[in-house]
Amino acid sequence: MAIILLILWGSLLLISMIEQQSTLLADLARRDGLTGLPNRRTLDFELDRMAARTEDQGQAFTVAMLDLDHFKRYNDHYGHAEGDTMLIECARAWHALLDPPALLARYGGEEFAVLLPQVTLEQAQPILESLRRATPAKQTVSIGYAQRLPREPIARTLDRADKALYEAKDAGRDRVVAAAEEPHRQLQR
Ligand code: GH3
Ligand code: MG
Ligand code: MG
Repeated sequence: MAIILLILWGSLLLISMIEQQSTLLADLARRDGLTGLPNRRTLDFELDRMAARTEDQGQAFTVAMLDLDHFKRYNDHYGHAEGDTMLIECARAWHALLDPPALLARYGGEEFAVLLPQVTLEQAQPILESLRRATPAKQTVSIGYAQRLPREPIARTLDRADKALYEAKDAGRDRVVAAAEEPHRQLQR
């Protein structure tokens, strides 16, 4: 009897260890290895999930793209390891200013995305401006953002945010720029 109980206890212990490991692995797969932020895969998943939820509930949804300014120059000047540290510090500084359900993710390289469900274009401006100001010294960031239009495919909203980001770059960097709304008839195609 004691042996059976011991085997049972051992099996339960093993199962709980395997469960813990698989939870840990699943969490690692969702995160970017350098900054610990949600990675591109998680971003794509959350983008679709938040787009569906905000649409169902008739809520606003604003997305922003962030791109560090002249980061190649930063790497060339301070070295790649210091560049990595800067990416970690930016992630930490920006993340500290956002409350759920807002989500900051690493889009790739020195580019990040912020998802702001239940936030309008007007409400997003001061939030994004606070991120720009919180960027560690020695580095600046350009930010473009767009609010999803009714029935707009979310990929197009992201595209408009990206275009606004390039306007911010063209206008001299270190700034936050809102996307222009495209004419409604173009969305009906
Ligand atoms: P811009 O202001 O126009 O965005 O200029 P930029 O130099 O930031 O843009 P560019 O796309 O030319 O360079 C991006 C740089 O980001 C080049 C690349 O080495 C650096 N980078 C991307 N990912 C990483 C990373 O994980 N670590 C480090 N240290 N650098 C990275
Ligand atoms: Mg870039
Ligand atoms: Mg850049």
